[in-house]
Amino acid sequence: MTTPVAAPSADTPYPHLFRPLTVAGVTLPNRVVMGSMHLGLEDRRADTPKLAAFYAERARGGAGLIVTGGYAPNLVGRLTPFAGTMRSARDARAHRTITDAVHAEGGRIVLQLLHAGRYAYHPLQVGAGRSPSPITPFTPRSLSTRAVERTVQDFVRAAGYARQAGYDGVEIMGSEGYLINQFLSPRTNGRTDAWGGSPAARRRFATEIVRRIRAAAGEDFIITFRLSMVDLVPQGQTLQETLDLARELESAGASLLNTGIGWHEARVPTIVTSVPRAAFADFTRRVREVVSIPVAASNRISMPHSAEQVLAEDQADLITMARPFLADPDWVAKAAAAAPEQINSCIGCNQACLDHTFQNRPASCLVNPRAGRETDPDFPPLPDRPLLPLTPTSTPTEPAAQSVAVVGAGPAGLAAATQAAARGHHVELFEASGAIGGQFRLARQIPGKEEFAETLRYFEARLAQTGVILHLDHRVTATELLDGGYDRILLATGVVPRGVGIPGADRANVHAYPDVVNGRVTCGPRVAVIGAGGIGFDVSELLTEPQHAGRAGHADHGAQPLESWQRQWGVDPGFTDRGGLTTPETAPAARTVHLVQRKTTKMGAGLGKTTGWVHRATLKARGVEFITGAQYVRIDDAGLHLRIDGTDRVLEVDDVVVCAGQVSQRELYETLQAAGADVVLVGGADVAAELDAKRAIEQATRVAAVL
Ligand code: FAD
Ligand code: NAP
Ligand code: SF4
Repeated sequence: MTTPVAAPSADTPYPHLFRPLTVAGVTLPNRVVMGSMHLGLEDRRADTPKLAAFYAERARGGAGLIVTGGYAPNLVGRLTPFAGTMRSARDARAHRTITDAVHAEGGRIVLQLLHAGRYAYHPLQVGAGRSPSPITPFTPRSLSTRAVERTVQDFVRAAGYARQAGYDGVEIMGSEGYLINQFLSPRTNGRTDAWGGSPAARRRFATEIVRRIRAAAGEDFIITFRLSMVDLVPQGQTLQETLDLARELESAGASLLNTGIGWHEARVPTIVTSVPRAAFADFTRRVREVVSIPVAASNRISMPHSAEQVLAEDQADLITMARPFLADPDWVAKAAAAAPEQINSCIGCNQACLDHTFQNRPASCLVNPRAGRETDPDFPPLPDRPLLPLTPTSTPTEPAAQSVAVVGAGPAGLAAATQAAARGHHVELFEASGAIGGQFRLARQIPGKEEFAETLRYFEARLAQTGVILHLDHRVTATELLDGGYDRILLATGVVPRGVGIPGADRANVHAYPDVVNGRVTCGPRVAVIGAGGIGFDVSELLTEPQHAGRAGHADHGAQPLESWQRQWGVDPGFTDRGGLTTPETAPAARTVHLVQRKTTKMGAGLGKTTGWVHRATLKARGVEFITGAQYVRIDDAGLHLRIDGTDRVLEVDDVVVCAGQVSQRELYETLQAAGADVVLVGGADVAAELDAKRAIEQATRVAAVL
C-alpha cells in the first residue's frame, strides 16, 4: 500500500469534508465520492489494466470511495451492443485487476450495476413498458412479470460476482431515466401487474433489488443506490414518491443514497458549465431529512469550498464528484493540504468526457489530457505529483535539462511551459499581453462560462510552482529568441480572428469578436453576427443575455444566480408538481440578434454533442433569428445585405460582429527555422481550423512531455 494522503491539519478550511464516515462497516477517510463515469474502457477486457491504472491514480489522490462506470447485470440491459457486464465468474476474475490496484493504494471501490432499459442502444432493449425513448431509435419490449423477477435475480447475481471480484460494494443505478427509474415513474410505467399501478408497486422493483442484494451479501457490503432526486421530465416522480422511495430503500438495506438528477431526455441542463454550482443540492437535502443513512449530493460541485458549504449547511453527508476527478486525480490531496488554488478544476465543458462518450470515443479531459491514458507513454505521470506544498520544483539556478522558450501564454503555451518545467527544464514563457490565457480569457467573459477562469487560476499557480519565468507584456521577436540561445523554442502564438472580405467590412460598425467580448465596443440594439460556430453562438449569448446586458468586458460579472437559472429552465425549487418542473420564464433579450451562416446545415451542428442543444435552446428562447444558407453581399447604411436562395434580404442592424473563424499567428516561425533554431508549433499557431482548447492543451502536453 502506498503512503496515504496526508491528513488535513486541525485548522483545515474544510472540516466537514475531512470527517471520516463509516458505511457498512467500512470507514471512509473523507466525504468525497468519485462518481460513476463511463470511460469507454469498460467494454473490452484488454482495456482493464488501463482502467485499473485510472482508478488507482484517483485512489492514490485520496478519493474516499470510487464508483466504477456502469456494468449491466444481463445482456439486454447493456447500454450498447458490446458494453461491459458482470454476469459470470470470468467477468469477476477480470475485475480483480481493478480492485487489487485500488486497494493497493488504500482506496475503496464499488461496482455500478446499470440496466439501460429503454435507453439501450440496441434492438434487444426492454422496458417497464413499450414507450420508446426520444434518445434511441428502438422500441422496447415490455418485460413480462416473470422477466421482471428474473431481472431482479440478475442484479442479485451480479452483486455476488462484484463481491467475488473484490469490490467493497455495488451501486445500483436508479436514476437518469435508466430501467429502475423507468419503473419508478408513471411516465414509463403503466403496468397493471405487481410491478406497477400504485406508487408503492412502481417502487417495488428498486426496493426488491436492494433487499435481495442485502440478504445475499450480508451486512459488510456497501450498497449505494443512485436515487433520482428530481426527474425533471413531465410525469416524473413527485416529491412524496421520492421521499417514500428513500425511506423504503433504507429499510431494504441500502447503505448510502447517491444523487442522480434528471433523466437523459430531460430538457433541463444538469451538469454543463452554465448550471450554477451545487444547483441541485437542495433537492438532495429533502431526501436527507427523511432517512438516517448517509446521502451524497452531486452535480456541479467542483471546488472544495462549494463541497464544504453543502456539507456545512446539512444538505448532504457526502459529496459525489465525477468529472472533477478526470480533471485532477489529486483533488482530495490538494484540498487536504488546504491548497485549492492548485486544483485543476473541471470547467463543465463536456468536450473531452461526455462528448467523447456520445461519439463512442474513450473519455479524457480538456484540462487534463492524461485522464484515461494513464498507461500511455505519451502522457507520463508528472514527476512532482502530488503537487504539494506550493514551492517551485525547479528553479532557474539549478542546471536544467534544456533551456526552453515558450511564446504565447494561451492554453497551449501554458500547458507546454508548465509540463516542460515540471519535467526539470528551464522554461521562459513570453506573452504579448498583460495577462495569461490567450483566447481562453475571452471565453471566460461569456455569461455561463465563468468557470473557465478556474483554468487560468490553476495555470497561474502552476507557473509559480514549476518555476516558469513569465514575461508579460512582452511581444517577443525572432531576434530576441535567437539571441537567447534556447535549446528549444515552442511557438504557441495562437490565432487571430479572420475577417470577411466583403464590401463595407471596414466600416466602423463592423467589429471583430474580441472587441465585443472584451467590452471595447458596445453594440446597438440590433446586431447581425456573421459566423455560427462556437464563438458566434457565444457572442450571440453575450449580446442577448438579459441579466448582464451592457456588462460585456467585465470578467467578474459573476455566475447566474440560482433562482434566475431555475426560472429560465423551468426548475421548480418547491417541487410542487411531478418531475419538479414548472413553466420556464423567458426574460426579454437585451438585443435583437440575427445569427448567420453560409452552410445550409442545422445551426450549431458543430457544437458539442451534449452541450449544443443548451446553446440552441437558450438563443431560441431569446428570439435570436437563425439564418442558414446565406451569401454575404455587402454592409452599408441600410445594414447587412444577404442573398438567400437567390433572394435578396437586408438585415437592418446597428452593428455587425464577425465570428468567421481564425487564422494562425505564426510570423516568427519561418525566420526562426531559416536561422536553424529548433522550433515547434503548438496549438492554434500550428493549425487554426477546428481549433479548440482541448486540442491546444493536448498537443502542447504531448510535445512538452518528450522534450
Ligand atoms: P491563443 O489562445 O490564441 O493564445 C496565443 C497567445 O499568444 C496569446 O495570448 C497571444 O497574446 C500570444 N502571442 C502571440 N504572439 C506573441 C508574441 N510574438 N510574443 C508573445 N506572445 C504572443 N475553446 C474550447 O475548447 N471550448 C470553449 O468553450 C471555447 N470557448 C471560446 C469562447 C470564445 C469567446 C473564444 C474567443 C474562444 C473559445 N475557445 C474555446 C477557443 C480557445 O480559447 C482557443 O482554441 C485556445 O485559446 C487556443 O489556444 P492557443 O494557446 O493555441 O492560442
Ligand atoms: P468555427 O467553429 O470554425 O466557426 C467559424 C464560422 O465562421 C462558421 O460558422 C463558418 O460557417 C464561418 N466562416 C468561416 N469562414 C468564413 C468566411 N470567410 N466568411 C464568413 N464566414 C465564415 O470557429 P469559431 O466559432 O471561431 O470557434 C473556434 C473554435 O473555438 C471552434 O473550433 C470551437 O470548437 C471552439 N469553441 C468551442 C465552443 C464550445 O462551446 N465548445 C465555444 C466557442 C468556441 P460558414 O462557413 O457556414 O459561414
Ligand atoms: Fe470537466 Fe471538461 Fe474535463 Fe469533462 S472535459 S472533465 S467537463 S474539464
